[in-house]
Amino acid sequence: MNSSVLVINCGSSSIKYALIPAAADQPRLAGIAERLGSSDAFLKGIDSRGERFEKALLPGVDHTRALEAILEHLEGHRPAAVGHRVVHGGERFTRAARIDDEVIATIEATAALAPLHNPANLEGVAATCKLFPDLPQVAVFDTAFHQSLPPQAFRYALPEALYRDHGIRRYGFHGTSHAFVSERADALGGIEGGWLTAHLGNGCSTCAVWEGRSLDTSMGLTPLEGLVMGTRSGDVDPSLHAHLARQLGWSLERIDEVLNRGSGLLGLSGLTNDMRELEVAASEGHENARLAIEVFCYRIAKSLAALSCALPRLDGIVFTGGIGENSPLVREKVVSHLPHFGLGLDRTVNAQTVRGREGRIDGGHPAAPRLWVIPTDEEGRIAEETRQLLDETTP
Ligand code: ADP
Repeated sequence: MNSSVLVINCGSSSIKYALIPAAADQPRLAGIAERLGSSDAFLKGIDSRGERFEKALLPGVDHTRALEAILEHLEGHRPAAVGHRVVHGGERFTRAARIDDEVIATIEATAALAPLHNPANLEGVAATCKLFPDLPQVAVFDTAFHQSLPPQAFRYALPEALYRDHGIRRYGFHGTSHAFVSERADALGGIEGGWLTAHLGNGCSTCAVWEGRSLDTSMGLTPLEGLVMGTRSGDVDPSLHAHLARQLGWSLERIDEVLNRGSGLLGLSGLTNDMRELEVAASEGHENARLAIEVFCYRIAKSLAALSCALPRLDGIVFTGGIGENSPLVREKVVSHLPHFGLGLDRTVNAQTVRGREGRIDGGHPAAPRLWVIPTDEEGRIAEETRQLLDETTP
């Protein structure tokens, strides 16, 4: 299939979109509709001339109306298919799936595992089906890439019935990003290697990839497990919930809210979840901003060291996501915590590899694991998986 794919990533109050042409050198139309359902909903994006636009949407606008507004900005381009990012595919989906009633029912049934995400993703599916009844729609799951984890990596040490009857296990997320950057690292190195990938954005996760397969990852049943994130705590003592409930009288809702939205870089610094602002504040002497960055980087290194156990051989580490692609400081600190990996770091190249540049920052010693900065392309990957599936299944 060599026409464009419309990629949709629907949240409860937002829709990110990107029209991905088949040819990589063609411009992408992309943008985001935000604050849907509120009185100050808006749509902003980039047109085919690369120019930015922003406009207000009607108060209370729903997903279907917002998608109609988005279509007006596609400048007459008609996609050949729609690829949806769907967060949780449970154990059922090991790869992308063409959306039909059965697939929708399975995504609905998995909503208990991702109550914030899957219902919102399905709203996007319903809206695009209404607007494009004839177009094939494909679901691409964040969890699918990690379905190759062996039981020793995906099982919690809990009673078996919790896994068997309730699906309580580690699933992992950010699969499209880890798949994209590890495949790119393979292509750059000319080998199918062993990579540790660190996706560091507002959400953060690490992954161990061997010969194109995910063997372990830092997120678990939900995207709260693992690294320190923008507003999420990552790993805490599992007894913390009981402690907060018993000692402070906190409700489950409050605990959930604090761990998901009031913790991480924001909670530690008491300032912001934005790494750019934290770096500035730390350089001006803000002690808690400095601490937030230190904890963030140490925990990434600790996670990478732990995940290295999954790999028969370590060929290198890949940094990606807004922080991984743009923060030489974070990359340098992470590397400094892993002296036993024998990593080198070229400080000059590290400092220059920002703002969407791909680059090898380890200095090139042949015996040392490589350090790559590879800008992720989740939308591109979703479009590619959509095309692949349709090519295979369309007669
Ligand atoms: P999301 O997970 O929402 O897609 P991104 O991948 O865009 O998020 O990452 C957002 C993070 O990237 C923010 O913490 C932001 O501060 C950080 N970031 C972006 N640019 C820089 C920069 N130049 N230096 C440090 N951090 C940056």
